[in-house]
Amino acid sequence: ETRTAPILVTGGAGFIGSNFVLDWLATGNSPIVNLDKLTYAGNPENLAAVEDNPGYTFVQGDICDAKLVPRLLEKHRPRAIVHFAAESHVDRSIHGPEAFLRTNIDGTFTLLQAARTYYASLTGEEREHFRFLHVSTDEVYGTLAPNDPAFHEDTPYSPNSPYAASKAASDHLVRAWVHTYGLPAIITNCSNNYGPYQFPEKLIPLMIANALKGKPLPVYGDGQQVRDWLFVLDHCRALRTVLNQGRIGETYNIGGNNQRANLDVVHTLCALLDELVPASPHKPHAQLITYVQDRPGHDRRYAIDARKIQGDLNWFPEESFETGLRKTVEWYLANATWVEHVTSGAYQHWVTQNYSGR
Ligand code: NAD
Repeated sequence: ETRTAPILVTGGAGFIGSNFVLDWLATGNSPIVNLDKLTYAGNPENLAAVEDNPGYTFVQGDICDAKLVPRLLEKHRPRAIVHFAAESHVDRSIHGPEAFLRTNIDGTFTLLQAARTYYASLTGEEREHFRFLHVSTDEVYGTLAPNDPAFHEDTPYSPNSPYAASKAASDHLVRAWVHTYGLPAIITNCSNNYGPYQFPEKLIPLMIANALKGKPLPVYGDGQQVRDWLFVLDHCRALRTVLNQGRIGETYNIGGNNQRANLDVVHTLCALLDELVPASPHKPHAQLITYVQDRPGHDRRYAIDARKIQGDLNWFPEESFETGLRKTVEWYLANATWVEHVTSGAYQHWVTQNYSGR
């Protein structure tokens, strides 16, 4: 009974969520129910390959919907909740923070309350195995000076953007629901992800998409902001590991130990495109680099100390930045229509056609 119970993922049509769902079903785990609102960032096309899989159920809905969420838990009786759904883009949070507070804070609160009631109804093995996995970011820890040690699980929270503040708030709610109500939750804080299906507003897919069109490659400020990059499937595997073996109430930092300055990342991408698109009229792609005014409050450096998940749960990243970046560029080259759809609004039309009234 417990083994065949599904897991409920939220935000499974987004970048990390869809990689997680595809990987989960491909590796023959239990069924998945995916609750996603399909904002601009959620794209059911990502999941076309599993649409007919009997182990996959899609529900279009909002995690802030305090009627829908408890109903879903009662109906599907999941053995775990993996919570990805969020507004995730820092620049958007600067221009319009409201949606971030609503989804990231109110939405997490709604889920926690529903999970609490549902957990109280469980008995025996179902109760023993139930987990709430909250997927969060290293941005909650703020920014590092060049020689500061990397973020570890006890680094004080110091969020600087509305996005980071909203995620920090959600982490604190999860922590409180563990300590106050005994909800069996675990938090993960991961560094910057990259890979297939990432919306082309984020650094790596934006640069690839622009370079292919011969458009400027906008680099913020001096381009020396350092990020710690992790291939998305390594993150998904870390989440599965934490779900299976992580300790309730713990936080696990996840990172690839790949610190790179943004400008270096852009140069590496340009070199890869020069090589992989030899006939490109825009070669050398690095000539497209344009420096633009820095993002307000831009964090200078993130770095993750992942020794806890490595030592306690024996998780290590498999992909190096070089091989992961090459795979990512190859994926975007092979999936130009995906990029066209998500940037042209064609997929919004597809959503209306396929999901309205369901
Ligand atoms: P994303 O923006 O690509 O996807 C978010 C998904 O959530 C979309 O499918 C969207 O439709 C859905 N969603 C948004 N609001 C919703 C709501 N109110 N109800 C239901 N669904 C809703 O984000 P992502 O990059 O895949 O990130 C997923 C999670 O991982 C987020 O919680 C993010 O904070 C965290 N995270 C991301 C990174 C990264 O580098 N992308 C790193 C660490 C942690």
